This record gives sequence, structure tokens and C-alpha cells, in this order.
Amino acid sequence: MFFGIKLISKEYPLDYSKVCQICGYNSSHFIKVNYIYFHFGFMLRFVISSEFFILCNTCTGEEEIDLKLAKEIIGKNPISFYDKYSLAIAILIIASIGKLSELKIT
Ligand SMILES: [Zn+2]
Repeated sequence: MFFGIKLISKEYPLDYSKVCQICGYNSSHFIKVNYIYFHFGFMLRFVISSEFFILCNTCTGEEEIDLKLAKEIIGKNPISFYDKYSLAIAILIIASIGKLSELKIT
């Protein structure tokens, strides 16, 4: 199929300890990231939805967090720049080529 959607799921095991909201233990945690991108031929991608969770290694309870906090804990954006912007950049390039060819005609 030339276009479609794809689910990406990543886990970040890390040395992040905090008091778990669910079991109350001071436990190590890890981050789980799920996102879905729309793609054209797998090359050009656009993220349509994403969710971030922090999971406790003691009780395996999970808590949803926002992108800002996920970035802070992981130390980088868990969604790759390519997955996020490649479709938008391709559209910009095509649009600017279109503009250039218009200029040549007139
Ligand atoms: Zn827990």
C-alpha cells in the first residue's frame, strides 16, 4: 500500500526513581511512548497522535504524562524529527518549486 498509518511503540528504561502514585513505593520507573504517523510510501511522515506513560517497575502501574514531562525525563524528544516533519517539509519544498516555476513563466 502506498500510504497508510503506522504505530510506533518505544520504551526508555532509565534510572529514574520517584514515589509511585499507585503503590506508594520509591521505585524506579520507565517511560513508554506510543505514536501513530500517517505516511506516504513510508518515506514522508506526519504524526497524528501520541501518548506517553510512566510505568513503575515495582507494581507495573502506569500513569499518563504529557510530552513536556516525557522530554524532561528522557532528555530528548521521543518522537523523531523525521517522523514528525518529513511530510510537511516535502510539501514546503514542492510548494516552493511550484512558486519558482511560476516566476520563470511570467
Ligand atoms: Zn508502583
